Amino acid sequence: MIIQIAKEANGRSYDELISRIKDIGYKSNEVITQKGRYLVCIGKQDFDIRSIGHLDVVSDIHRVSDDYKLTSRKWKVHSTTIDLGDGVRIGENDFQVMAGPCSIESEEQIRSTVAQLVKTGVRIMRGGVYKPRSSPYSFRGLGMDGLKIFYEVCSEHGIKVITEIMQVSQLEEMYPYVDIYQIGARNSQNFNLLDALGSVDKPVLIKRGISGSIDELLYSAEYIFSNGNERLMLCERGIRSYEQVYRNTLDLNAVPILKEKTHLPVIVDPSHGIGIRRHVPAMSLAAVAAGADGLLIEMHETPEQAMTDGYQTVDYSEFESLLDKVNEIRSVVV
Ligand code: PEP
Ligand code: MN
Repeated sequence: MIIQIAKEANGRSYDELISRIKDIGYKSNEVITQKGRYLVCIGKQDFDIRSIGHLDVVSDIHRVSDDYKLTSRKWKVHSTTIDLGDGVRIGENDFQVMAGPCSIESEEQIRSTVAQLVKTGVRIMRGGVYKPRSSPYSFRGLGMDGLKIFYEVCSEHGIKVITEIMQVSQLEEMYPYVDIYQIGARNSQNFNLLDALGSVDKPVLIKRGISGSIDELLYSAEYIFSNGNERLMLCERGIRSYEQVYRNTLDLNAVPILKEKTHLPVIVDPSHGIGIRRHVPAMSLAAVAAGADGLLIEMHETPEQAMTDGYQTVDYSEFESLLDKVNEIRSVVV
């Protein structure tokens, strides 16, 4: 059960509510987010929620039987829209493409990518400056120096920045230079990081874990939400399966299932999802047809020379034709 507390609630009526909840055998957890104040109540007994719902201190009340609560559509029937400012919104009727290199490599590369985004009307640039790499000897990103230039060039052109955060200690220094924090697949269940991102007033995109279930992804989102941050997006990026002929198994089943289970926007990353450049356009279209609210795509001027993930990165002309087709599919499915 979730109870939204009325804004004007006073201390006494709130305490009374807490004791009423205790009396019916429920345990209440207070959640204060940047948008509201809630009591997430856990219990099994059947009772008439109207016996609590009529109290002045309650502005809304719902039974939510799912184990994840605040992220459940049983709590919030309407889809959440994330507003990044400057007319950039994600969710419901606002579809967004986030594109750019796997890794930020140089100022020249950033400028070239931004020019391509401006040309194609794409408003969000992706690019990692802290890279999780399987081998410690691989390129691990330009760090804060890269992020500062990334943000500066993007801001000059009204482009928003999404980039991966890998650990809690990076949160503050990254803050001024980020529009969306990305939690990578390897950190999808880094609960300390999830807790920390709950206190941030910037949107977070959470990727599904490498072998993560759909429910685990929802629990990860619930961690952030219950720590205060409601501005969340979920990202299907492929899971590890027995199949060896492509990098990951892009689970497009997750898109309609997630959209049914949660009110949060669902983004698909076809680049990591299939891991093969020539098939990224087809999987992008499939994701759109499945109902995705956005795409996260690796794009580079010369993918052959990209420092990371070039084999799954489209070039500019492939990106343009992909976008045209995405728009066509959207006109059919929306
Ligand atoms: C990335 O987006 O470049 C990345 C490292 O993704 P993932 O966490 O999905 O592997
Ligand atoms: Mn990558």
